[in-house]
Amino acid sequence: MQHSDVVIVGAGPVGVLNALGLARTGLSVTLLDAEPAIGQAPRAMVYHWSVLEGIERLGLLEAAKRVGFTKQDYSWYVYATGEKIDLSVGVLEGLVPHPYNLHMGQHKLADIALQELGRFDNASVRFGTRVTGITQDDDGVTVTAEGAQGTEQLRASYLVGADGASSTVRKSQGLAFEGMTWPEVFVATNVRYDFEAHGYARSTLQIDPTYGAIIAKIDNTGLWRVTYAEHPDTPEDQMGDRIPQWYEKLLPGDEGYELDAYRPYRMHQRAASSMRAGRVLLAGDAAHATNPTGGLGLTSGLFDTFVLYDALAAVVKGTADESVLDRYAEERRRTFLEIASPRASANKQLLYHTSDPVRLEAELSKLRAMAADEDAQRTNFMFTKQLETAPLVQPVATV
Ligand SMILES: Cc1cc2nc3c(=O)[nH]c(=O)nc-3n(C[C@H](O)[C@H](O)[C@H](O)COP(=O)(O)OP(=O)(O)OC[C@H]3O[C@@H](n4cnc5c(N)ncnc54)[C@H](O)[C@@H]3O)c2cc1C
Repeated sequence: MQHSDVVIVGAGPVGVLNALGLARTGLSVTLLDAEPAIGQAPRAMVYHWSVLEGIERLGLLEAAKRVGFTKQDYSWYVYATGEKIDLSVGVLEGLVPHPYNLHMGQHKLADIALQELGRFDNASVRFGTRVTGITQDDDGVTVTAEGAQGTEQLRASYLVGADGASSTVRKSQGLAFEGMTWPEVFVATNVRYDFEAHGYARSTLQIDPTYGAIIAKIDNTGLWRVTYAEHPDTPEDQMGDRIPQWYEKLLPGDEGYELDAYRPYRMHQRAASSMRAGRVLLAGDAAHATNPTGGLGLTSGLFDTFVLYDALAAVVKGTADESVLDRYAEERRRTFLEIASPRASANKQLLYHTSDPVRLEAELSKLRAMAADEDAQRTNFMFTKQLETAPLVQPVATV
């Protein structure tokens, strides 16, 4: 039976970056994904300034900047009145190493990391391999997986479940996914349309109880993301047909557009009852899921990754006690529940559901005051740094 130090289930961005972090420390890593290749569905595309140091530490930042682009502009846009409240990440210049956000599709980040992972003989990557069962004993974990060759078993000292919100790994360990699911469905669309020609910031947060939306530039090829909230009763097979009606309201001009891709998503605020079960650790959406308003989902998953791979490597190499894995599990879960999830819910409320004019005006007054005060903007943009966990061990030497 094949044995690795660590098996990682799920080659989304969290799984691939964890695999790379572990491979760089010299551990043997096997990365398994059920699908034939990295998923291409429109999902995360904003990388807040605060995660760029971690991406840099994995040696991926320069490639990411070549594939995506960096930017500082932000705008809250009040759909009903046309008011724009502009902010800039530029207020962080001189305070942080990377005072800008990076935009690119999450599959591109996973691609870049996968390419880098290919340089390591101690890493093996297998797509088309679905994990169906996990058992553990005092010495390790046994993984049952199904692929083109049929059913097989693999053995590892530790396993990371990075297999997304429906995580088989989480369920296999009897861990609950506690929280709630929102009634409405978000539809994420990728479209070629020149919003910049209409004066849109490259991250526009559009406030309206009906036409609330996230409108953001994905890359330098002219692709933009428009995400809006569909009515809960809309049948899923009608969501695609309804996109032209939505675009009539959401696209500012009447010139043509080219729809590139779309996908409806159910949204949750949920966290696993624990992010550790013995030798099994959870990371990313397998551990916690949030609605995407404000881009805090993958941000949380990346901050899991940046502390998990070093902690696991230190435990396997015998330089840290297993209790560090409990600290990982507790601290990452607490950060999600106390900081990321409430902020994402508040963002969603403001963008999509503020129909009370008094409440809206109070929120807008706060935003206007922030736009006029660089210190207040700094405090605002420093928020995502609170989602980070300080290193749990001394960084493990890379090979
Ligand atoms: C519309 C939208 C926009 C978003 N925008 C942002 C954003 O801008 N910024 C941000 O931070 N977050 C954003 N998010 C959230 C972000 O997409 C997720 O947090 C992110 O995908 C989590 O990555 P992951 O690697 O944990 O899981 P996933 O990306 O879900 O990857 C899980 C992987 O596991 C594999 N898998 C599943 N089951 C098995 C199995 N049994 N065996 C083997 N493999 C398996 C899957 O094939 C998949 O490749 C957005 C989400 C949505 C829906």
